[in-house]
Amino acid sequence: MSGTSRELATQVLVINRHMQAVHITSARRAFVLMWTDIARALDEHWVAHAFDSWSTRPAREGDPTVGTSRGLIGVPRVVQLSQYDRMPRSTIRLTRRNIFLRDGHTCQYCGRRAGPRDLNLDHVHPRSRGGPMSWENVVCSCRACNLKKGGRTPAEANMRLLRKPVRPRWSPILALAFAPGRPPEWEPFLANLPGAREIASLWADALAVGVSDEALLAESA
Ligand SMILES: [Zn+2]
Repeated sequence: MSGTSRELATQVLVINRHMQAVHITSARRAFVLMWTDIARALDEHWVAHAFDSWSTRPAREGDPTVGTSRGLIGVPRVVQLSQYDRMPRSTIRLTRRNIFLRDGHTCQYCGRRAGPRDLNLDHVHPRSRGGPMSWENVVCSCRACNLKKGGRTPAEANMRLLRKPVRPRWSPILALAFAPGRPPEWEPFLANLPGAREIASLWADALAVGVSDEALLAESA
């Protein structure tokens, strides 16, 4: 199989037999899943094709293609697992980028929106006094507010949180799959997932402060 690394890295949505989005993979991996009949490519009419059938279809205009011994093959936008009832992972990782994403890249004390370089993680109940690293105790804050608050609680520092921090409702697949520039073919498998509307607006916040979708994608899984 040949092709530029860009085409082989094209993101492909993996869905299970219940048509639920479970994962995002690369075109390279998607073809491996198809060769081994672990997954089948879904065409625009949601008909699932095994590798042989898919490889004889002409690629659609504008779709990425890779060269094989059989000629050019279109990269599928969606592949469906043929055997396993894998379910989407529901626990989103507690990472700096995911906290920034949850908080809309907005300081939770003064409301200033900024890029990741100008933001800090703030332990609401100070770490020095046993405050845990948890969704409920860590928020996005600007450097100025972080400095001002120091090792104090918000009450001691006379500062107020814009809102109570909670674990996000959105699943990891949603955080990834809702990145701007996603193929329209993914839409039907994402729209009904919990938190879909919320994540769309959080992504807009992230892009407004110059966060690239690649940077977020790399860490938000
Ligand atoms: Zn602030």
